[in-house]
Amino acid sequence: MARYIGPVCRICRREGLKLFLKGDRCYTEKCGIERRAYAPGQHGQGHRKRSDYGIQLREKQKVRRMYGLLEKQFRRNYVMADRMKGVTGENLLRILETRLDNVVFRLGFAVNRSEARQLVRHNLITLNGHKANIPSMAVKVGDVVDLKPRARKHIRSVSALESVDRRGLPQWLELDRKNFRGTMTALPEREDVTMPIEEHLIVELYSK
Ligand code: SF4
Repeated sequence: MARYIGPVCRICRREGLKLFLKGDRCYTEKCGIERRAYAPGQHGQGHRKRSDYGIQLREKQKVRRMYGLLEKQFRRNYVMADRMKGVTGENLLRILETRLDNVVFRLGFAVNRSEARQLVRHNLITLNGHKANIPSMAVKVGDVVDLKPRARKHIRSVSALESVDRRGLPQWLELDRKNFRGTMTALPEREDVTMPIEEHLIVELYSK
């Protein structure tokens, strides 16, 4: 499937927020936003008043890009969230958080979500001991996610695991560092998503 392969710091600069799309670099002064805190492009430093639609669109784009999804995938998640009981915006965030690639990232098996997706696609992750190579698979409470032994010695996996200290392990996940094993102990709640997201704007945008 098509994927954005351009410079990712540009995305953060466009959204005006650190989306942590790279890894260690995001925590240093080399971060694109730290160096150039304005939107990319010729008119990036100009001031433009945004319409309500523009604000909603930017919020949706921010969240979509944060999780590395294409529009079609993101909208499919929204439709699922809308059909579920409860608050649509919160359902959407829960669906995004419990995607297998996101769980792999949150557990610290990868430095960013795109690397986590690659681990999944390359058959280096198992879910409850079974093959799991679809990044969008939904992880459920009680599921166990393992990094296969052949990937464990990779220096990137080891340093990613160390970086989980900096990012913080969400309270809905449990991590056995020695065995590169994670367990989902609860469903993520709204307050577990700490990035500044106004999900109601996404709901407003898609409800038009
Ligand atoms: Fe975003 Fe990370 Fe690039 Fe900073 S270094 S702009 S947080 S991707």
